[in-house]
Parts: sequence; C-alpha cells; structure tokens
Amino acid sequence: MNAKQKMRHILDTLAEMFPDAHCELRHSNPFELTIAVLLSAQCTDETVNKVTVSLFEKYKKPEDYLAVPLEELEQDIRRIGLFRSKASNIQKLCRIVIDKYDGDVPSKHEQLTELPGVGRKTANVVVSNAFGVPAIAVDTHVERVSKRLALAKPDDTVLEVEKKLMKLVPMDEWTLTHHRLIFFGRYHCKAQNPQCPICPLLDLCKEGQKRMKPGIVKKTKNKAMKPKIANEG
Ligand code: SF4
Repeated sequence: MNAKQKMRHILDTLAEMFPDAHCELRHSNPFELTIAVLLSAQCTDETVNKVTVSLFEKYKKPEDYLAVPLEELEQDIRRIGLFRSKASNIQKLCRIVIDKYDGDVPSKHEQLTELPGVGRKTANVVVSNAFGVPAIAVDTHVERVSKRLALAKPDDTVLEVEKKLMKLVPMDEWTLTHHRLIFFGRYHCKAQNPQCPICPLLDLCKEGQKRMKPGIVKKTKNKAMKPKIANEG
C-alpha cells in the first residue's frame, strides 16, 4: 500500500466511524466562530461552549465588546484559561474589525492571521467553517493522530504536519478530514488511553501494534506517571 492508498483507507475508515463529524464550538456566524476559536486555545470546546451561552447573548457584535471595560469582559470569560490575555485580544480584534473591515470578520486567511489572538490554526478553522474555503487546521488531536498513524514524523512541527496532510488528502476533503481527525483523536485515539485493541486502523498503525505488546504497555504505564500537558480540547 503506498502513501496515498494508505491515506484513502484511513479517510474511508474515519468516514465510517464519524460520518457526521463537525465543528463542536457553538456559533451562529463568522464573528462568533472567531471569538469561540480564540477562546478555545488551551481550553476544551466543552468549557468554551458553556461560557459562550451567556457571552453571545450579551455581546452580539464587535461594538458590544468595546462598550464594556476590559475588567468586565475578563469576568465574563473568567472560567476560560488565559482569560486576561484573551479578553484583551478580543477587544483589540474588535477594534480592528470595526476600523478596517466595517464590522465584519474578514474572510481571507492572511487578513485573519493579522488579528490579535488569531494564529494559523484559528484562521484555518474560520475560513473553512465560516467561509467554505478548504483547510486543515492542525490542533493537538490532529497532530497526535497524524503522528501515531505515521502520516507525519514524530518531530514534525504543526506546520509540517499540515503540509503533509494537504499533500495526502484531496483538497475537497480537507475540511471534513480535519473534523474527522479531531473526532477520532477526541473519542477514539485519545492521548492517554487510545482504543488500540478495537481500532479498525490497527493493521496499518505501528504505534498501536507497539502499544499492544505487553512490555511496551508496561513502559507506557510507567511513562504515564509524568504526563505531558497538552490541549485536550
Ligand atoms: S491503533 Fe491505537 S494508536 Fe493507532 S490509530 Fe488506532 S487507536 Fe490510535
């Protein structure tokens, strides 16, 4: 099986496992999605969704975020990690969106990454989910799963993982593949307890086969005593 055939098999398997994979951050327009993704850095989607229920009720447009003191916005998102810098970035972002883009979140990747608090991953999520532009956003799940399945090398950067996936996956499947890899990583190939014994990809996953060997499982358990901190959103 060559690399493209292997990828095809993975894509078809993920499609069977997670036919309805989608963005799990609540939002009803591009602006809300941008705020939600910005809030989700180093935080779970679940926590963000709890906070945005009342946040999006109170703040509907960029002007609303600028109409309150920074401290009030901080309090409204205080359950989220790094809430102070995120509140500050949200207000700066809103100022730019109003001054430069007439109140609408821009639709181009390079415009989005110029906004405070918006990196490459956030911009990919926004262009693909809000504007229908194909993109593969590489978060912690996509990175881990890609490396375990040897679609990328263990020491590849996030950008290198993204580029490798873009080469292997047909462009019209980029966005859906991003969602399916996240679901696969979040619910099946989990960071601490991947479901290797029941994994339909075990045949082609050397990492899974290694983990199935008793000696290695023991080693993994020992290593688990010092877990790495990761964004498990
Ligand atoms: S075999 Fe295990 S490590 Fe490999 S993809 Fe499946 S769950 Fe993940």
